[in-house]
Amino acid sequence: MTTSLVTGGAGFLGSHLCDRLLAESHRVICVDNLLTGNPANIAHLTARDDFRFIKHDVSIPFEVDESVDNVLHFASPASPIDYLELPIQTLKVGSLGTHNTLGLAKSKGARYLLASTSEVYGDPLVHPQPETYWGNVNPVGPRGVYDEAKRFAEAMVMAYHRYHGLDSRIVRIFNTYGPRMRPHDGRAVPAFIQQALDGEPLTVFGDGRQTRSFCYVSDLVEGIWRLLMSQHSEPVNIGNPTEMTILEFAQTILDLLGSNSEVGFHPLPVDDPKTRQPDIALARSILDWEPEVLLRDGLAKTIDYFRTLCLPQKG
Ligand code: NAD
Ligand code: UDP
Repeated sequence: MTTSLVTGGAGFLGSHLCDRLLAESHRVICVDNLLTGNPANIAHLTARDDFRFIKHDVSIPFEVDESVDNVLHFASPASPIDYLELPIQTLKVGSLGTHNTLGLAKSKGARYLLASTSEVYGDPLVHPQPETYWGNVNPVGPRGVYDEAKRFAEAMVMAYHRYHGLDSRIVRIFNTYGPRMRPHDGRAVPAFIQQALDGEPLTVFGDGRQTRSFCYVSDLVEGIWRLLMSQHSEPVNIGNPTEMTILEFAQTILDLLGSNSEVGFHPLPVDDPKTRQPDIALARSILDWEPEVLLRDGLAKTIDYFRTLCLPQKG
């Protein structure tokens, strides 16, 4: 049986990845310190024989007493308010956590996959962003703790690949949304949905003309699975190229919910990227992958999930 270890497996993306790996008949070891994760995301898995949860901070070295075939490093605070609140942990999990998990993969002879981010492109001067673009990141701004940790992590993975011959993959994930996001994690998708459900004004930052391109979680997980199964060691963008302004996005949420909430404008966070859109030509050609879920369909599923959180809990 193939065993895959997922760090950050109790988080939004990590828990969907655990589900997919189990569906592919992998045994899954989830390592998470629950810093920004939620035990409810993996509550449906904990009784299974082929699933193991280890509560641990991966910035601290650790050993695993069984064979491991794949290490997928997803642990990291990921929403701007999380990593602004947790700057040192963010830098540590991207650097020390990456080093520790690379060491684990090397000692087990395992394949390694790093969850990197479109934030390595910073506030991009090239549009859309291909993998060959080196980015425009402010290392000393508040977002630098996340962006630079991920850039360091990519460099570390490539060093293990070149120096130790590690079998590695790097996925550059663009804004992804879906069920299991935290309603108050501050990212635009959960923020706007929760505000609209509560009848509160939507908090649009700046003039709302900055753009993002939102990918539904099942499309992302399919891309990650194909990348893991591929032979490609250089970074690959996975995201949905459908780009829109944040103001258009806020309006889409209001339309979908038939909400009368207003839009309120707030200051733009420091170094907030003005545009973001993945160039997915590489993923199309080497993985035969492209997103399939339309924004309205993905948002409808996400809204359903947020509605269930609003229901009174049993017991
Ligand atoms: P999340 O906060 O829901 O999940 C992160 C998980 O990592 C949480 O369960 C948290 O408890 C865990 N974690 C954090 N530090 C840890 C540590 N030191 N040791 C062990 N566990 C730790 O966020 P997410 O959106 O699911 O993001 C997962 C990964 O994907 C992150 O690496 C993030 O950088 C990357 N990513 C996400 C997106 C996105 O749009 N969701 C975009 C780009 C990259
Ligand atoms: N944003 C916003 N209001 C919010 C949260 C986010 O206008 O309540 C904006 C934010 O400034 C950014 C975009 O939405 O331009 C996406 O933000 P998010 O935090 O979701 O992701 P990231 O900035 O990492 O792309």
